[in-house]
Amino acid sequence: MKIFIDGKYYSERDAKVSVFDHGLLYGDGVFEGIRAYNGRVFKLKEHIDRLFYSAKAILLDIPMSHAAVMRATVETCAKNKLRDAYIRLLVTRGVGTLGLNPNRCKRGSVIIIAGKIQLYPPELYARGMEIVTVPTVRNLHSALNPAIKSLNYLNNILAKIEANNAGVEEAIMLNAEGYVSECTGDNIFIVKNGKLQTPPLSAGALYGITRQTVIDLAVEAGHEVTEPNLTRYDMFNADECFLTGTGAEIIPVTKIDGRVIGNGKPGRITKKLVANYHALTNRSGEPIYG
Ligand code: PMP
Repeated sequence: MKIFIDGKYYSERDAKVSVFDHGLLYGDGVFEGIRAYNGRVFKLKEHIDRLFYSAKAILLDIPMSHAAVMRATVETCAKNKLRDAYIRLLVTRGVGTLGLNPNRCKRGSVIIIAGKIQLYPPELYARGMEIVTVPTVRNLHSALNPAIKSLNYLNNILAKIEANNAGVEEAIMLNAEGYVSECTGDNIFIVKNGKLQTPPLSAGALYGITRQTVIDLAVEAGHEVTEPNLTRYDMFNADECFLTGTGAEIIPVTKIDGRVIGNGKPGRITKKLVANYHALTNRSGEPIYG
């Protein structure tokens, strides 16, 4: 595997960062998770846009242009001869001194790893997944805006641990007001009477790129999509439920906090969206070769 660090490629063994990088010391940095399908990087521009928005929000200068980051992402896939990949792109605050002042870091570092990911066991995609609501609430906008895809994922990791402790793979996180926000690494949707609903970004959801793609696909298929504040009650009484994320893609949810969702099987509209999503990922994106 060849890993991009600040303009050069390193083997897996030699790809190293300093212990004084504030990305390691403080989780100070931003990242993206991107996928390539069938020789094309899917929604690349949208991911790099979001990377730059996250960086702007934390006053982090990305030491490359938007176009150069796009090129380097595609090039990293090409160098690794990957046609299907999961790409982890990080920008850290860079090397500084002990002490959290980011002014001590001269230059941010850009790292691109192109590999593979299997987020959930394949049988869960066929059967549907059980999830629970966990006690850890989503970060407050006024503390650390959940729209920032920062290297500090402890809020989500704590929720993931609580999900694991409950014997399931994913968790619903509520916001401080008690409305559904999102899952630890995925956005959440429900279907009720043929209409789709997903929490608004103001409820603490990430501006998910898969979320937006699914909204576009659903609207194209003639479904109404709204973004109201949702409660656990709304989830329990949905006809269908599914999660979206670059890594997870679209995964059906069939049980929430012990309540069976709909008929307990992946829903008809969910399955149609999965098919349409796969068709789209296979035909669009930034070409890797040539
Ligand atoms: N929410 C969180 C907290 C995430 O980390 C992610 C990405 N893994 C998502 C939602 C889904 O976003 P996207 O569809 O852009 O991958």
